[in-house]
Amino acid sequence: DDLGTLDAAVSVCRACERLVSWREDVATVKRASFAAEPYWGRPVAGWGDDEPGVLIVGLAPAANGGNRTGRIFTGDRSGDWLFASLHRVGLVTRETSVHAGDGQRLVGARMVATVRCAPPDNRPTTTERDACAPWLVREVELVAPSVRVVVCLGSYGWDAALRTFRALGYDVPRPRPRFGHAAEATLTSPEGRELTLLGSYHPSQQNTFTGKLTEPMLDAVLGRAASLGSA
Ligand code: SF4
Repeated sequence: DDLGTLDAAVSVCRACERLVSWREDVATVKRASFAAEPYWGRPVAGWGDDEPGVLIVGLAPAANGGNRTGRIFTGDRSGDWLFASLHRVGLVTRETSVHAGDGQRLVGARMVATVRCAPPDNRPTTTERDACAPWLVREVELVAPSVRVVVCLGSYGWDAALRTFRALGYDVPRPRPRFGHAAEATLTSPEGRELTLLGSYHPSQQNTFTGKLTEPMLDAVLGRAASLGSA
């Protein structure tokens, strides 16, 4: 199918020299605690339902998370937080996402990274972000007909979603909607269909350790997404 073709194409992308080196270096050297495990070390494709009501947009795979397991938000602390909350609100079948063969499944939801290769310090350059944008645009184009709500993790995900839907001809409110935790904006497709953009602080350790993002805060946003997505 089209998503399968897209996944196959993105998985061999080598457009960003710095990120290709980084993803492969990390996969070769490995973190000591994962020394015995194989690392994916390639771009990480979108994952989940082919006709999702909820689309979750993150930043990029973690070097020892998605870059290791090959599945987005899988095998790192941010992912643990995200999946626990997704489970509490009924958007996944299991509490954890550990590795690609663990039986975890998204229910009516799909997750994608804005930049598909792990960047050093989780910070892609603007050039790398722009190089990866066509992959995101294409994936969103394929799944958008069923999407009712887009959960944007962090301002990075929020900005990427706005750019992507604008590129696909969606009408974006003016002034441009501002990111915030539980911020909402309505976008309108060229056919007149509305979808909701929903902001959430990113479940990064920086946010969860400091209490900037708490479990009830994340549950509230994802619970809202679950109800909008199945409406
Ligand atoms: Fe290709 Fe995106 Fe990875 Fe750059 S970040 S190499 S564009 S998949």
